[in-house]
Order: sequence, then C-alpha cells, then structure tokens
Amino acid sequence: MKTVTHWIGGKPYGEGSSTSDTWGPVTDPATGEVTTRVAMAGPDEVDAAVATAKEAYATWRTSSLAQRTAILFRYRELLNARRDDLAALITAEQGKVHADALGEVARGLEIVELACGLGMALKGDTSTDVSADVDVTSVRQPLGVIVGISPFNFPAMISMWMFPMAIACGNTFVHKPSSKAPSASMLLAELAAEAGVPDGVLNIVHGDEIAVNALLDHPDVAAVSFVGSTPVARHVYGRASASGKRVQALGGAKNHMLVLPDADLDAAADAAVTAAYGSAGQRCMAVSVVVAVGSAGDALVPRIAERAAKVKIGPGNDPTSEMGPLVTRAHRDEVAERVAGAAAQGADVVLDGRDFTVAGLENGHWMGITLLDKVSTDSDVYRNEIFGPVLCVLRAETYEEAMEIVNGSPFGNAGSIFTRDGGAARRFQLEVETGMVGVNVPMPVPVGYHSFGGWKDSAFGDHRMYGSEAVHFYTRGKVITSRWPDPAETAAGPDLGFPASR
Ligand code: NAD
Repeated sequence: MKTVTHWIGGKPYGEGSSTSDTWGPVTDPATGEVTTRVAMAGPDEVDAAVATAKEAYATWRTSSLAQRTAILFRYRELLNARRDDLAALITAEQGKVHADALGEVARGLEIVELACGLGMALKGDTSTDVSADVDVTSVRQPLGVIVGISPFNFPAMISMWMFPMAIACGNTFVHKPSSKAPSASMLLAELAAEAGVPDGVLNIVHGDEIAVNALLDHPDVAAVSFVGSTPVARHVYGRASASGKRVQALGGAKNHMLVLPDADLDAAADAAVTAAYGSAGQRCMAVSVVVAVGSAGDALVPRIAERAAKVKIGPGNDPTSEMGPLVTRAHRDEVAERVAGAAAQGADVVLDGRDFTVAGLENGHWMGITLLDKVSTDSDVYRNEIFGPVLCVLRAETYEEAMEIVNGSPFGNAGSIFTRDGGAARRFQLEVETGMVGVNVPMPVPVGYHSFGGWKDSAFGDHRMYGSEAVHFYTRGKVITSRWPDPAETAAGPDLGFPASR
C-alpha cells in the first residue's frame, strides 16, 4: 500500500515520527479498494509546519520579484510536462475521468501563469506633490503564513488557485488538502521544490478537522483560504475570524440554469447534460437545477433524458468513460438515499441511476445518471446540495416565477440563463443573486485574470479566489507619506493642528 506523508521544509515529513501515528485510508473510487494510507496531522505536525513556514517567510518576503517570477515560470514548465501524471493521481483518488482531470490541471495552470506575471499587479501607486514637497506612495505587502484548506473534488486545481498567488505575493503557505484525495498535492509540492521554491515556503499537512482546527487557532497563521461545503465554510470563517485572521471561505452550491421557451433547446439540453453529469456532478459549478419556463419544460426534459441516457459510465482510467464513480461509498449511498426521498416527495423519476454498476467493478462507488422532473422547492432533494449525478427540473410559468425560485435559494454560487432574447438575458444578469453568471454558458467558471466566488451561503468573506482579488487577499496595504524639505528652508516650528495640505 502506498503511503502519503506530510510535506514540511521541502521534504516528506512524518513517516515513523512519534507524533504522526494516525493514518487515514484513501480509496480508489472505481474499485472500492483502499490503495493508500495518508498521515493525519495533530497539533504537533501543524506546529511544525507553521513554524517552518514562519521561518521561511523571514527571507521569502524579501526575495526579489525577479527571483519569484523565475521560479514560477520554471514551475509552470514542470507542471505542464507532468499534466498526465497529475491527472492520473486525480483519477485514482477522486474518480473523475482522465480527460476531465486534464481539464482540471489546465484550469489550475491558468492561475500559475497568472502568478508568473504578478509583478504587474503588485506595483504600487505614487502621487507626487500632494502638498508642498510631499509625496504619497501606496504599496501592498505580504501577510505572513497563509493556510489553504481544500476539498476532494478538485485535488489539484483548487490548491493551484491558492498557493501560487499567495507565494508570488511573498507569503509562505501551509496547505491542508482533502485526505480523500491527497496525492496530487504532494506532486504539486515536489515539482515546486524542483522549480526552486525554497524549503519551507510551501508545506502540506494532511488530516481532518483536528488538523484544520489547529490551523484555524494557530497564532502564527495570518490568513485562511478555504474551499469546501457550506457548513464547514461557515465554521472555518467563524473560528478563524474569531482569532483575528483574514478569511475567505467558499462553500457549497446549488446552481440553477433557467431556460426560456425561445432558447435553442438542443443546445440547452447539451449544456444541461454536460454541466449536470460531468465529474459525476461533483463540481461546485455543476448545474443541479434546471428551471424550465412555460413550454420549455415539456420540450426540454425528453431532450435531456435522451442525451443523458447515452453517457458512458466507467472507471476514470478507461479512455471511453465519460463519467466516473463517486468519491466514497458513504457519499454514493447518501446520494442514492436523496433520490429515494425525492420519489417519495412527489418528483417524477425520469432516469434512476441507483442500481447502476460496472461489471467486474461491483465494489466501485457507482451511481448512474438520475433525472428528476417536477421537483418541488420544499423537497429535500432540492433544498440540499446533492453533489452527485442528479439533475432536478423545476417548472415555472413565467420568467418572474422562475427568478423567484432561483433567488429563493440560500446558495449563490453560479446561475445561468438560456435564451435568444438579449433583453431577458440582460435582466437576468442584473437580477440574479449569484457571484458568477452564464448567458448560454452553463458553467461560467471565470478565467484566471477575473476572479472566482459566490454569494450568500456559497461564500463567506469579501474576497474572491484568484484574479486581482487574490492579490488583495494575500497582501495588506501600506501608504507612505514622505517629505524631503529643502535643507535651506527655515524650520517652521511645532504646529499642533491636524496636518492639512498646502
Ligand atoms: P468538506 O467541507 O467536507 O471538506 C473541505 C475541507 O475541510 C477538507 O480539507 C476537509 O478535510 C475539511 N473538513 C471537513 N470537515 C471538517 C470539519 N468538520 N471541520 C474542519 N474541517 C473539515 O468538502 P468536500 O466534501 O471535500 O468537498 C465538496 C464540497 O466542496 C461541496 O459542498 C462543494 O460544493 C464544495 N466546493 C465548493 C467550491 C467553491 O468554489 N465554492 C469548489 C469546490 C468544492
């Protein structure tokens, strides 16, 4: 069995150590077999990682931008060369198909590329002669030790949203990946070391809430970037803020796709199937609800069903598979239970994936494509994030009724509209209460130089991931007011008034 240890000070840490005697299992979702044991950190490993990061910060914060940029460019090249290996690690532990895992790596690389050019975003502003002989300069400086806590569903990409930007800004980093899929983060760290990231600048501790809470409480941690489910995001935001840390905590989602009757319904059906069932629905940007307006519903549901029934489900390392298994057996069973509950609460079960299995891999965490129609807003399957291959269709008579449904959701990650009516699309963009919006685009994941984040229960804290918002999150402002008077000037003497410009 493979062993995954922590990564502290530029090397593996923890195997055989007296404090790291707890191990967690990592399962291959396609076979159900435990393939790996992962070290689970307690307060001792957390202390060691934070102390190492703190020590490294003393020199990394003053490293030149040229040096950081050169390292990040080398890192980008190494990652690019190892895309396939990273994708294979993702598939082996998360379950998604290889092509999808490659897409994840590509979107993560976008952020590394953004970090390569961060000098531009870090340059300050200067105003000269704001008063007699007085100049004012605004600069942004790093915070110190940053903690990143990430979920299982993007084992590489979400880490790459966080640490490249944080370290490019001059911080050092302690990452706590999901212990369900820890191996991709280790390859990311090994490649960072190979690229020249100094020892201690990027560290990893694996574990569960014990490790997380020790990080949230640690006095030497300056800020926390979190991505995961809403209950944990709320906990992380509250606990880390309470100890004075800067926090961004992205949570769960229930993304709605509103379809008007004038939309290209074939394109809308393709989009719904892609966005609902890709990665077996285990994406925070997955469309889990279609709100069909007026006549769109009767025309759309059979189109979705026809396409969805053809999706080929199988192990992620089979190049013919389009959708893989769910991450754990427990999660698969929870999703299946939600589907049973939906039928009992009056939904029409158009496609039922509960009995699906793959011959020869019966212990895999399989859940087939599930399509539920005429779902009500008070049913459990609608009110909760399911995070599986389950698409709910709700019907509305009018745009206004549909928007009441969309904006009535406590989640606000992403929302999309499918229509040919520019006026309706514009109205939707302005009215929808989500942080990301798609117009004839089902999963509007912003490119790296914009930024990512939801509203309402989908994100706590006011800074989004990547883009210029990340620069703001990972740095703090300082404004320097300076005056170099002519030495020949006679000193004016003390003046106890509040300084005013002249
Ligand atoms: P999760 O909340 O269970 O875990 C996220 C991280 O928190 C992991 O590192 C985990 O070890 C840790 N954790 C879990 N329980 C904890 C607890 N009680 N106390 C402290 N730490 C704890 O999420 P997950 O199941 O790994 O990932 C799926 C969730 O993440 C979904 O809800 C999905 O919508 C969300 N997600 C959101 C985004 C986004 O950008 N908003 C992106 C990806 C995933």
